[in-house]
Amino acid sequence: PAGPGRYPAAAPASQALFDRARALVPGGVNSPVRAFLAVGGTPRFMARGEGAWLFDADRRRYVDLVCSWGPLIHGHAHPAVVAAVQAAAVDGTSFGAPTEAEVELAAEIVARTPVEQVRLVNSGTEATMSAIRLARGFTGRSRIVKFAGCYHGHVDALLASAGSGVATLGLPDSPGVTGAAASETVVLPYNDVSAVEAVFAAQGSEIAAVITEAAPGNMGVVAPRDGFNQALARIAHAHGALLIIDEVMTGFRVSAGGWAGLDPVDADLYTFGKVMGGGLPAAAFGGRAEVMGRLAPAGPVYQAGTLSGNPLATAAGLASLRLADASTYQRLDETAATVGKLASDALAVAGVPHRLSYAGNMFSVFFTDADVHDYDTARTQDVAAFRAFFHAMLAGGVYLPPSSFESWFVSTALDDAALEQVAAALPVAAEAAA
Ligand code: PLP
Repeated sequence: PAGPGRYPAAAPASQALFDRARALVPGGVNSPVRAFLAVGGTPRFMARGEGAWLFDADRRRYVDLVCSWGPLIHGHAHPAVVAAVQAAAVDGTSFGAPTEAEVELAAEIVARTPVEQVRLVNSGTEATMSAIRLARGFTGRSRIVKFAGCYHGHVDALLASAGSGVATLGLPDSPGVTGAAASETVVLPYNDVSAVEAVFAAQGSEIAAVITEAAPGNMGVVAPRDGFNQALARIAHAHGALLIIDEVMTGFRVSAGGWAGLDPVDADLYTFGKVMGGGLPAAAFGGRAEVMGRLAPAGPVYQAGTLSGNPLATAAGLASLRLADASTYQRLDETAATVGKLASDALAVAGVPHRLSYAGNMFSVFFTDADVHDYDTARTQDVAAFRAFFHAMLAGGVYLPPSSFESWFVSTALDDAALEQVAAALPVAAEAAA
């Protein structure tokens, strides 16, 4: 087992794989944040996961506080999830025809969340992309309102975040996103009801939908102010627009019913992903039957997928959801409180300015003194302090998200041994950040 400072910064086996990967794959990774861009150093290539632990190519062992960016509430390779996937694989990996398991997974989602009907897809990006198309098809309008700092996947229209934190018509945030795709997206500061009211007063009849993370985890964790999501529903509905609540990250993680289980809101569409796939690619969007009924083949709004409702992903998701009972969520909440307090105490002892920010059992540490409530205030962070903290935690055998603009995620597999390793690594890391 690792102790603080035990692992050297050099990770030769990961570095060799990274060098090879960079010749074959742009930047050496299949999703940018994996490349350690914000923190520098060698991204760890993972070989195996078991419970609370990740094992890398150099045979080092880390407590995993990323959990594949959220999906793994039961930890790695939970026996029930593995067994379900194995059993499904034996029966065939894909049919391109409907299956009973898809009906079961839809029933589990409908039972837990406010949605009346649901469509399965393969990624959170597909879910938000399709929800937006449906909202546009349903309302006959084209404009979308989103919030700076909220991430909804790499959908063209949603990559517009303006980056300025002020209400503005979006400009493309990525080359390849056309001005036309982004020009229908209005980006507003998060947690600012008056900005939403002002935009609806000016152009309400052109707005198809407001989309928001149920509780944002993609600018670090920034909880909605009391009543914020409800205000979005009220304002959107007063103007004939829809509210899309993106629960890809919060869904089935912060409670059985996701953020809606903690903070109900009268939304029209919801998107899900991550936990509902149990670590395999599965996601969904759902909502009121009246709206979902416009989707092909019931209605005219087209959406489809060769691997949608894939038997392995569906089996993993079903097993994962069925494992999660009240005790699961209690344990996730308690563990998140414990890890957050350990981190905050260690940083306080070292005199490092920081804010601990929770939304249910999602949390992050902002390296700032500011009251963080939107993207601008999240960006007051001391990124260099986080970088030093991150690498000292890695050396101490704790794998954190390699960016300070991400949530930390816990699993029920975090046992005493894992927590002890986190507790041992923290004082060293806090000193490194000071
Ligand atoms: N929506 C939210 C809130 C997310 O956090 C993410 C991914 O992190 C997505 C959508 C996109 O999901 P995916 O990466 O599965 O496409």
